[in-house]
Amino acid sequence: MTKWVYTFGDGAAEGRAGDRNLLGGKGANLAEMCSLGLPVPPGFTITTEVCNAYYANGRTYPEALEADVVSALDHIGRITGRRFGDPSKLLLVSVRSGARASMPGMMDTVLNLGLNDETVEALAADSGDARFAYDSYRRFIQMYSDVVMGLDHEVFEEILEDQKASLGHELDTELTAQEWQGVISLYKAKVEEELGKPFPQDPQEQLWGAIGAVFSSWMNNRAITYRRLHDIPESWGTAVNVQAMVFGNMGDTSATGVAFTRNPSTGDRQLYGEFLVNAQGEDVVAGIRTPQNITEAARIAAGSDKPSLQKLMPDAFQAFVDISDRLEKHYRDMQDLEFTIERGKLWMLQTRSGKRTAKAALKIAVEMAKDGLITKEEAVARIDPASLDQLLHPTIDPKAARDVIGMGLPASPGAATGEIVFSSADAEDAKAQGRKVILVRIETSPEDIHGMHAAEGILTTRGGMTSHAAVVARGMGKPCVSGAGSLRVDYKAGTLISMGQTFRKGDIITIDGGNGQVLKGAVAMLQPELSGDFAAIMEWADAARRMKVRTNAETPLDARMARSFGAEGIGLCRTEHMFFDGARIVAMREMILADSEKDRRAALDKLLPMQRSDFLELFEIMAGLPVTIRLLDPPLHEFLPKTEAELAEVASAMNVSADKLRQRTEALHEFNPMLGHRGCRLAVSYPEIAEMQARAIFEAAVQAGHKAGALVVPEIMVPLVGLVKELEYVKARIDAVAQSVMQETGTKIDYLTGTMIELPRAAIRAHVIAEAAEFFSFGTNDLTQTTFGISRDDAASFLETYRQKGIIEQDPFVSLDVDGVGELVRMAAEKGRATRPAIKLGICGEHGGDPASIRFCEEVGLDYVSCSPYRVPIARLAAAQAAVAAAKSAAKRS
Ligand code: PEP
Ligand code: MG
Repeated sequence: MTKWVYTFGDGAAEGRAGDRNLLGGKGANLAEMCSLGLPVPPGFTITTEVCNAYYANGRTYPEALEADVVSALDHIGRITGRRFGDPSKLLLVSVRSGARASMPGMMDTVLNLGLNDETVEALAADSGDARFAYDSYRRFIQMYSDVVMGLDHEVFEEILEDQKASLGHELDTELTAQEWQGVISLYKAKVEEELGKPFPQDPQEQLWGAIGAVFSSWMNNRAITYRRLHDIPESWGTAVNVQAMVFGNMGDTSATGVAFTRNPSTGDRQLYGEFLVNAQGEDVVAGIRTPQNITEAARIAAGSDKPSLQKLMPDAFQAFVDISDRLEKHYRDMQDLEFTIERGKLWMLQTRSGKRTAKAALKIAVEMAKDGLITKEEAVARIDPASLDQLLHPTIDPKAARDVIGMGLPASPGAATGEIVFSSADAEDAKAQGRKVILVRIETSPEDIHGMHAAEGILTTRGGMTSHAAVVARGMGKPCVSGAGSLRVDYKAGTLISMGQTFRKGDIITIDGGNGQVLKGAVAMLQPELSGDFAAIMEWADAARRMKVRTNAETPLDARMARSFGAEGIGLCRTEHMFFDGARIVAMREMILADSEKDRRAALDKLLPMQRSDFLELFEIMAGLPVTIRLLDPPLHEFLPKTEAELAEVASAMNVSADKLRQRTEALHEFNPMLGHRGCRLAVSYPEIAEMQARAIFEAAVQAGHKAGALVVPEIMVPLVGLVKELEYVKARIDAVAQSVMQETGTKIDYLTGTMIELPRAAIRAHVIAEAAEFFSFGTNDLTQTTFGISRDDAASFLETYRQKGIIEQDPFVSLDVDGVGELVRMAAEKGRATRPAIKLGICGEHGGDPASIRFCEEVGLDYVSCSPYRVPIARLAAAQAAVAAAKSAAKRS
């Protein structure tokens, strides 16, 4: 029989940390903490399998579940000496979701469940604190009505605000028991008025309502969006955790808080967190009251005049410090903890690996490896390659003048400049129009995820370091300043007001997520520093990886940048990009529009020295590292004059009439240029173009070789080959030019000629093509386009719909379609090697910088990946992780 429910409590648990798939992250870690003997309120976890069964069976529970829940409640009762639903031995519970991967803000929580008009009296008598009892009941009504019954919490906020105003109170904590009773009556009346039924009094009904709400929330829009953005499969399901309540709102010796064992923003080794006295968990995360610091050091650093936990409750603080140390060592990772102190006694409610910025992730991994807590390989494996992006982005130049208009918390590092928008919808619209925006909100909620994605950065005027905006922005790697309380946002007026200055939608501001400043206008930015922890991880990654990492670059700027990021050569130099510059485009147009070989050669003669100097510079920057140069690839019409002025300019340079030129332009029109006269087809039609390029390459190689005193070995790449004879034809021309240059210069030139594999026919005939090709570079952009028969330039308009409808999981132009396109790559690699065992194999499509695709490249045994400069560090790390994973699975097999 399937076991649907796992209990924990009193130093023992049926589950373990390793049961995460079944118990969800929260459930598995509660079980583990119990087994470690830590103070955890007893409870039970309803498994993720129940969630799946619930949806598979038309939203009904497995038959045995009810009985299992009854006996699990008895288990809690035995440990606590209480009984659920029994006012004489009152047991209240919390109900929380807990998916396999943490989904902050996505799922819902209900606290104080089991309270009703009768049990609230029992709670008052039991605790000797009527005020606390009624405060708990009103919280329960509010939370339950919102999460389970779908009544917006704002209706309750309004009632509470009105009551406070009429009673002359400022803070919730000032309300008396009687006053809370008044609020409760109003709340209940509101529920009945809005929903047409009374607030449920039966604890069993409440419990099943809450369980049902957690399972239902797995399929709410926020959860679906979050899963899509984080590639979390729907089939994982969520678990439900039911736990005996402990109360942080039982007066001034009670508190509740959240903490990280290290600073999640910087990675510094210091307990880092916030708490609130006389409060319940949700108050801290919601950012409604400004929380206090846990340690004295943090309080002093923050300049706060509110006492730290260390000062206020030294015993509970010390117990918490000991437990945090223990949990970090046990899990060998930085932990994110939730706790409650009930009348001086500490209870642990959650532990999990803490989310952190890329900077913090590097620091923590490097320090833990240096301390011997984890190995260097583990340190490398811990860093999400894509997150490195956060470190490669600019920060504000310290020398730049700053016009500070506000100050908040440094919630997520990096700086961003953009136009102010006040809503997520506006952020998305602006992004779609190619504009950069800062999303400015009082506070954010899960509904804002889209807008946060679209924005360059996020600014909130309310909320702490653990508020929704802060947590989500850190996860996304977006700069965020939260809780900038001196700024006033007025949604209705569409204004942001700071010290008498009014900013409106569209005004430019800059936020500095590193120090919490909000600045007027755009500010000069600095490129990031790639030393320290970053360099250490990169060094360890380089030691672990097998594949080389090259870059796709054609400008000296990109090539230099890529080298500073650690590129080991150029995998793709798209020569066509070199022809768009001022004087060159005119010569290029002359060449294309010439109607005889003689005229074409005359134009090519003008281009030759320019190409040669380009290549010379690239060879010099790459200083002996391999450089792959691709012959002209795109359809010629891309270079044609578009305006009358451009046409006139070329006509005068060529000494022909504009009319004649127009006719020639029209003759070059193609219906489907991407499948037309491009790639090696150009070199077949106009071999003189390939000859000019080959000559420029060889002459530059000789010059660079002489200058450096070492041989430069260029790799010449022929694009879009489908037939071996195409390659043979072009290669013969290249070889002939090589012979001439060698004779002219008296210098021997070593070079390789190879091809891109970017057509299915090339993959199928790879064994034959390899007879002429000394290397293959997989052009997976075109290979994806031609395998799917989907235009890479038009795909965006419908692929998103495909994704939403579940027809594809990933855009195949972003992450390699391993099953289809990947199969062609694998086959071509095998066939190529069968003919030419030492053939060099690489990838230069966009996928060369995508971690999942890099994993596949490792599996197929490619020699290198090549990607855009900013992706080079990501590729170095991903290649290392892929090599470690491949070695592990090979070891398992043998
Ligand atoms: C490719 O097709 O994958 C490729 C790298 O070439 P381009 O993107 O220039 O067509
Ligand atoms: Mg291509």
